[in-house]
Formats: sequence, C-alpha cells, structure tokens
Amino acid sequence: MAPAASKADVVEHLGQAGSIPVRLRHLLPPAYSPEAMSDDPRRHVPRTDTLLADPRLAGAGERLGRALVKDAVQRVQQRVRGGEVAPDAAVEAVLADLPPTASSLRPVLNATGVIVHTNLGRAPLSGAAVEAITAAAGTTDVELDLGTGRRGPRGEAAIAALLEAVPAAEAAIVVNNCAAALALVATALGQGRELVLARGELVEIGDGFRIPELLQSTGARLREVGTTNRVALADYRDALGPDTGAVLKVHPSNFVVRGFTRAVPVAELSEALAGTGVPLVADVGSGLLRPHPVLSDEPDLQTTLADGADLVLASGDKLLGGPQAGLVLGRADLVQRLRRHPLYRALRVDKTTLAALEATLRGPRPPVPEMLAADVDGLRARARAVVARLVDAGIDAFAVDAGSRVGGGGAPEHPLPGAAVSLPPGFAEPLRVGVRPVVGYLEDDRTLLNLRSVPPSADDDLADAVLAVAAAWT
Ligand SMILES: *Cc1c(COP(=O)(O)O)cnc(C)c1O
Repeated sequence: MAPAASKADVVEHLGQAGSIPVRLRHLLPPAYSPEAMSDDPRRHVPRTDTLLADPRLAGAGERLGRALVKDAVQRVQQRVRGGEVAPDAAVEAVLADLPPTASSLRPVLNATGVIVHTNLGRAPLSGAAVEAITAAAGTTDVELDLGTGRRGPRGEAAIAALLEAVPAAEAAIVVNNCAAALALVATALGQGRELVLARGELVEIGDGFRIPELLQSTGARLREVGTTNRVALADYRDALGPDTGAVLKVHPSNFVVRGFTRAVPVAELSEALAGTGVPLVADVGSGLLRPHPVLSDEPDLQTTLADGADLVLASGDKLLGGPQAGLVLGRADLVQRLRRHPLYRALRVDKTTLAALEATLRGPRPPVPEMLAADVDGLRARARAVVARLVDAGIDAFAVDAGSRVGGGGAPEHPLPGAAVSLPPGFAEPLRVGVRPVVGYLEDDRTLLNLRSVPPSADDDLADAVLAVAAAWT
C-alpha cells in the first residue's frame, strides 16, 4: 500500500516517470532501491511456460487437462506476486492447488443423518456399482450382441435383473428418473385425455417440483377426485369415461395426512377397474423392491403389482440405493407402448446407469439398505470410537444419541434411532469447507456428526477431518 503511494508521489514530484536521477534515489522507499528490488519475490514470479513444462505439472496436465493446470498456475503466480509463496515453491503450490479430478464435484462425508440426501447426490453407490460404471465407461456391449455381432437389445441385463427382483412384473424399462417415468406415462397414456388422480395425492416432491404440473405439461388433463383428506372408490368410478387415459396413484412420499382420512388401496382400485380397459398406474417413489421389515408404510414394487397395478414407477437412487433412474415395471403391452413412444428415446439412460443399476440389483447390499439396517448399539460403539480419538487430541467431543431420517422424500414419519459425535458449534463450518468436506448439523449449540449416514469404512476419515480442523486452530 504505502510504497505504491510513495512511488507515485516521488515520480510526480520529479515530473518524469521512469528515470530517477541517482542522487535522488535515497529519497525513494527501500522497496524501490535496485538492491531491494532484486530481493522482491514479485520479481521472481516463475513464467507460466516454465511452470507448465515442469514434468510434474506436465503429468498433471495429461491427467486433468492443460486448462485446469494453467488456472492453478495463474492462481499460484498471484500468490508468489503477493509474497505468500516462495518462487521456488511454486510447483509444489500448484500441485497442492490442483483439483483431485477434472470434475469440480467433490466427495463429501454425509454426517447429516439423512440417509438419502438429495443435496448430497442421494444414494451413495455400492463398490460393485462403481466398478461396473468404470468397466462400462469406455466402449461397451450395451447394444451389441458379441456372440452374433449384431445389434442387441439395449440394457437387457439390467432389465433382467429388475424382473428377477420383482417377479410380479412382466416387463420393465428404465428412464432418467421417476419424474421422467411419470412424464412418459402421462404422455403415452394421457396426452389429450384424462388422468384420474386423488386430490390428496397432488404432491410436491421438493424444490418446487409438483407432480400435477409435470403431468399437465405433457398435454394430459387432470381429473381430480375426492378431497384433500378423503377419496372413495365411488369418486374414481364417477370420474371414468371415454376420455380416461389412466388412473394414477401417487405415493405421498414426504408427508402424511392424519385424522379423518381415507384413501383407496391399489387392490380395491384395480378390482373396480377390471374390465374397463383403463390402466392403473402407481408411482411408489421410494424404489423398494419388496416390503421393508422396518419401513412398513412404504409401498414396494412387488406388492403393488401383485395387488393389481398395471404399471409401477419408482426412483433408482432412493431406497433401492442405486443410480439416478426411473424404473417402470408391469404389464408387457403397456411397457411396450412406452418403449415405442418417441419420447422414450429422449428419456433413456446411458450405459453407466444401466451398469450401475444391474450391479446394484445383483451385487452385495448397497450402502443405503445397509445404513437403514444399522443397529443403535453398533452406531453408539462407532461414535465412542471416533470420540476416543478426538478426546486424545484434546478436543471437546462426546458421543450422543441422535435420531436420523430416511430422507429423499421417503418414510417422513419414521424416525431412526442412532448416534452422533457431538462437537463445539464452531466445527460445523470449517468441517464443511475442509479438504475432505464433512456436512453435519447444529443442534442445541453443538455440531453433531450423525453416523447413520456415514459408511463405517469412513469413520477414520471423519475423525481425521475433525483433527485437521482442530490442528488448524492451534
Ligand atoms: C421422489 C419421487 C418422485 C421423483 O423421483 P425422481 O427420481 O427424483 O425424479 C416422483 N414420485 C414420487 C412419489 C417420489 O417419491
């Protein structure tokens, strides 16, 4: 600050920039004496080309792309100019500044206790699914029969795995997400026609995404029946007519209506629709394949089909614990109609999703169902083990009981008992912005790191992240 102002003053006083008579040099601030200048780190900012040519940075450039490395080089040059980094430490500083991958998405430890957290990418994939994605990422036989050398059906193996897991389904297709599945169904069965839907099921899923608006955007007309809290079979019957494209049931995933309520179960609706030719479509949302031993209120694909739904729709990245996907299962003729519809081509999934879905279904139990099944004693023991490491380092930490949730719009009323590591409130933010970001939450003026949503294999990383924050303070 000061030297720059002094320079301006002196130069102005002398009336000529650049050439300062030798006899006046003693008037200049020390930074402007030629001797001092040679020590000024700003004079030694390594050139961009020189840095990029360093073998370590050239290697990083091959891995991450030259543009990302160049960005990091420029940031470090700025820090050298500011005297923050020594010129000869520039390469190390660039290496430390480089992102771990060419994507800016970073792995985050989810210590929110919300197992399926939409802001944190919903379901963490199983190791088997990650490997399958890597294997399928290059050129792969997604649509080629290697035996005959001819074109084969796309994603056949993932579909077969789905049908094995849900034997009540005759056929299935996979689209980008459950919203895409709804859009496809509404377009193929309801465009220019009516979709019959109970008023109590006009659901907003989250972030302003409203199912009725999505349905209407396809050109289907909504025929709302019943009231917010009650709908009867007769309401559905009265709504049927020559224009009816389908009857839709949407699971109110993220809320419950209590008190004087009534809904019509799938089995009753299906019985009433028998012989009318009107398909019954049920959006169950959560993606449970079978009834869950603990989440008794969550509908599942197998039971809903067995109860008589013609099509069921669900997300792949909620309780199923797989990749983002929309699953459509049910009657073969209806599935075929959807597959043939031009819109299907715009909604179909890529090879990596198919690979991850198949591995989720056939491989070991993925993290989401594992986390759901974790017992309280195990969670408490993990919390105590993490706390022991932190207390050893002098951190004010203790284990507490803490409830958690399924999340992702599932089982809203189902609290899951669990355990958390309790820390002073000041930990929350530095943990979130740390090298290995950890997202916890504040409760009663403490930072809680809830272990139900953390894979047990990451407990050491969690403790390391807390230790790193504490170390930076001392
Ligand atoms: C979550 C949910 C959706 C939306 O699913 P996406 O896979 O996020 O598109 C639709 N319907 C219900 C009932 C849901 O719970």
